[in-house]
Amino acid sequence: MTDLTRRKFTGLAGASLAAAATTPLYAPAVLGQAKAKPKLVVLGGGPGGATVARYVNREAAGAIDVTMIEPTRNYTTCFFSNIYVGGYRSFQSITHNYDKVRKEGVRIVPTRASAIDRDKKQVMVGKQSIPYDRLVMAPGIDLKWDSVPGYSEAASQTMPHAWKPGAQTQLLVRRLNALRDGALIVMVAPPNPYRCPPGPYERISMFAHVLKAKGHKKSKIIIVDYKPGFSKQPLFIEGWERHYPGMIEWQDPKMHGGIKGVNPKTNEVITDLATYKAQLVNVIPAQTAGQIALSANLADKSGFCPIDPANMKSKMDANIFVIGDASIAGEMPKSAFSANSQAKVVAMVVRGELTGAKTFPARYSNTCWSLIETDDNIKIGGAYEAQAGIIKASSTFVSKPGEPADIRKQNYQESVDWYRGIVSDMFG
Ligand SMILES: Cc1cc2nc3c(=O)[nH]c(=O)nc-3n(C[C@H](O)[C@H](O)[C@H](O)COP(=O)(O)OP(=O)(O)OC[C@H]3O[C@@H](n4cnc5c(N)ncnc54)[C@H](O)[C@@H]3O)c2cc1C
Repeated sequence: MTDLTRRKFTGLAGASLAAAATTPLYAPAVLGQAKAKPKLVVLGGGPGGATVARYVNREAAGAIDVTMIEPTRNYTTCFFSNIYVGGYRSFQSITHNYDKVRKEGVRIVPTRASAIDRDKKQVMVGKQSIPYDRLVMAPGIDLKWDSVPGYSEAASQTMPHAWKPGAQTQLLVRRLNALRDGALIVMVAPPNPYRCPPGPYERISMFAHVLKAKGHKKSKIIIVDYKPGFSKQPLFIEGWERHYPGMIEWQDPKMHGGIKGVNPKTNEVITDLATYKAQLVNVIPAQTAGQIALSANLADKSGFCPIDPANMKSKMDANIFVIGDASIAGEMPKSAFSANSQAKVVAMVVRGELTGAKTFPARYSNTCWSLIETDDNIKIGGAYEAQAGIIKASSTFVSKPGEPADIRKQNYQESVDWYRGIVSDMFG
């Protein structure tokens, strides 16, 4: 058995051995029938998957058969979930369904894929199989529960992570809104690489906004961080000092001396420096690509999936693309904006490969907006292209400390417009 064959075989380990005898959910073409359309299967219906499914379906105008596998019927966006935490948005306003996507002609399989058979080019959904000519993997992330000693999936019911959307974010908000003045919130912030680099610090800002709006005078927020620094740090620190003086304390590893763990029974966070007994603990563990990408052997030692920067094609398999948070996208951060931008490149490449449509060199872009306080929004972003084997920034921008208030307010409006645009790209 060659290395590659062995890897592919191992990739099937997650599937039952009965997979060999699976029935195709959508039968491939057989001799004598009209020529079958090429098949695109998209795994995951987030900003990566839903965008690529809709774009290929629309732009190929019926020439490609598009199937999207996504178990979630109502997708709540992580992006703008901090805006919900801050009380600026309802939960309903960040929750969407795939009704229009289905009506447009994308076949949606509302189940979790259980394995990928890379040799047979099919995705297993339980005992059934879905054949593909090209597969786009966009499964997002999974959490490494044991990266924080004492933390677990069960512990997330008392110490929410809210780093995957839905019930966890609602739990976090309930806990936040129940706090009385004098409360202590502790966030355990994740090591790199992780979904949404500025996300934890925007969330901290939204915690502070809620406490301040409720008139809290004595409540405190401590961040114990696995990292020595973070995205837009000077801008966040300046904003926290301006809007929430004395409320927020950020501790880098030099200061806390090491995160020893958490105790969900006592609601404690233990570091070398101190043990904090908090009223709300938000643990954001380390992350990997979604489990299905790992069991299909599409990831490397980092836990994420290497890709060709020119087209987001998996370095492990020429028939598979990996986009969004699951991929190693060089200098692009793991964001919904990035996933959506990568999806548009992949939609073009897939049409090129399956129908001969014209393709262009890949160009990617990203902007991450973060709200610090009402109408005080900061942004960072760039344009990216394939250079020297990775996705590299060709230009970048970032907000400046001390900017006029009208610029910050305009940033917020831009972010609202962007949200409207991306959910329209994803859900129609
Ligand atoms: C608090 C927070 C705030 C954020 N704010 C922003 C922001 O302001 N701007 C921004 O651009 N980004 C933001 N992000 C990041 C953004 O949410 C992610 O980068 C984005 O969702 C990644 O998209 P994706 O398509 O790769 O994965 P996801 O959105 O996670 O979608 C993956 C989908 O795959 C499905 N799936 C997984 N496994 C399987 C399987 N086996 N079979 C079938 N389906 C499967 C899942 O159900 C899921 O719906 C934020 C994230 C967080 C946590």
